Amino acid sequence: MKKGQEYIGIVDHVNFPNKGIVQIEGLQEEGEEKGEDKLSLPPVKIVVKDVLPGQMIKFRLTKNASGRKEGRLLKVITPSEREGRVPPCPHFGSCGGCAYQTMPYKEQLRLKEEQGKQLLQGFLQKETIWEGILGSPREFRYRNKMEYSFGDEVKDGDIMLGMHKKGSFYDVLTTDQCQIVEEDFNRIVNGTLKIAREFGLKYYHKITHSGYLRHLLVRRAVKTGEILVHLVTTSAWEVTNKKEEEFFSVWKNTLFSICLDGRIKGIVHTINDRVADVICADSTKVLFGEDFFFEELLGLKFKISSFSFFQTNSLGAEVLYRKVREYIGGTKDKVIFDLYSGTGTIAQLLAPVAKKVIGVEIVGDAVEAARDNAKRNGLLNCEFLEGDVLQVLDTMEEKPDYIVLDPPRDGVHKKALEKIIRYQVERIVYISCKPTSLARDLELLCGAGYKVEKVCMVDMFPETVNVETCVLLSKLRKEP
Ligand code: SAH
Repeated sequence: MKKGQEYIGIVDHVNFPNKGIVQIEGLQEEGEEKGEDKLSLPPVKIVVKDVLPGQMIKFRLTKNASGRKEGRLLKVITPSEREGRVPPCPHFGSCGGCAYQTMPYKEQLRLKEEQGKQLLQGFLQKETIWEGILGSPREFRYRNKMEYSFGDEVKDGDIMLGMHKKGSFYDVLTTDQCQIVEEDFNRIVNGTLKIAREFGLKYYHKITHSGYLRHLLVRRAVKTGEILVHLVTTSAWEVTNKKEEEFFSVWKNTLFSICLDGRIKGIVHTINDRVADVICADSTKVLFGEDFFFEELLGLKFKISSFSFFQTNSLGAEVLYRKVREYIGGTKDKVIFDLYSGTGTIAQLLAPVAKKVIGVEIVGDAVEAARDNAKRNGLLNCEFLEGDVLQVLDTMEEKPDYIVLDPPRDGVHKKALEKIIRYQVERIVYISCKPTSLARDLELLCGAGYKVEKVCMVDMFPETVNVETCVLLSKLRKEP
């Protein structure tokens, strides 16, 4: 094989999240003796991203190390047997958001389950109950939050507002027909972009650090229909013949004039002059209403502030949390730690049937919201501590009977996991949004005497490569 050359092959399987493995038989490694019997050569494995199992693809070899070969997809020559659906979204293919729209939902679930099973295989025992994968109650229009970027699709093109183009750090598409959000999101994107263009505003440029418009954050609760619209800009207003206040007043009126299915609960302007491309606040001004909204899950009400974490698929979250509740089992008279508690959803769903639940969360805003929520839900046996799990565990006097872990994508810090293991609780429920991190953490947990009792995957992110996995671990009893 030669770097830079084009090859054709069939995708054998796809590892989580999007790494296709193409096997080609009878290929000569570079530098090998010529003339060898081609059939006796072992198949060469090449990693090509963003493909589906069974597709015949054309790719260009971009990396040719003997241990690792990589290719870049040029073209799908023949689709996979698993495909066969016309993508419902016109942005599909160029938009960086969705990956699976050509597959019927049933096939998407099958692929996610295969990937999860393959990653966790080494931790499954004969007695382990593999419960398969539960789908999202809604395949489309399931997201309650979108973070849109301002940018352009081609260099010096018109200003756009939407998702990044597939594989691109800079190019942005106006994704105003997105199918994984309610139509309200698309209407708000269009309304905002129209006014931005009328005022001739520039987007914040990630290289030159100049420009004004950065992000539009829209959150909309499924159950209550409440909408929070949040515009993030720099402080560099550049239009000389028009005032910044005028822009915000026109934008606000535009939002109110849009016919929405939900109801605007708050309009917020945040200034962020930091170089890093993350949505955060240097200063925040509420232009209308509040900077929070309410969502309901399994009969409880949750106040969600602009920047605190909340599961992005509310109806899917109900499926996941029901599973967590089932896995943790009988909790009467038990003390439970909910580590990485966010706005305290899991803690509060467990509290009614437990002695006490203590949540630990690093984002102050979320901790405050969690306390507020618990009070509103009439739960007096919930406590929330602010800080890094790694440190907070050292300061806690109470000992847990059970532990729930719901860490961010990178999983649990190794040192924190060692502290968690030291409690020697009987049951741990681990919820993971990245099965590769989960597999790494299971290595430590299983090495320390825990065994995987049950696994259930829950698809909270239809059309995309992501998936949640919920694992029940129990401490192995020592033989007398
Ligand atoms: N259990 C919650 C949130 C899970 S997301 C829910 O279901 O809604 C993970 C959360 O962990 C986020 O809220 C994030 O802010 C928090 N977090 C990230 N690193 C942390 C750390 N080192 N210590 C405590 N919390 C952390």
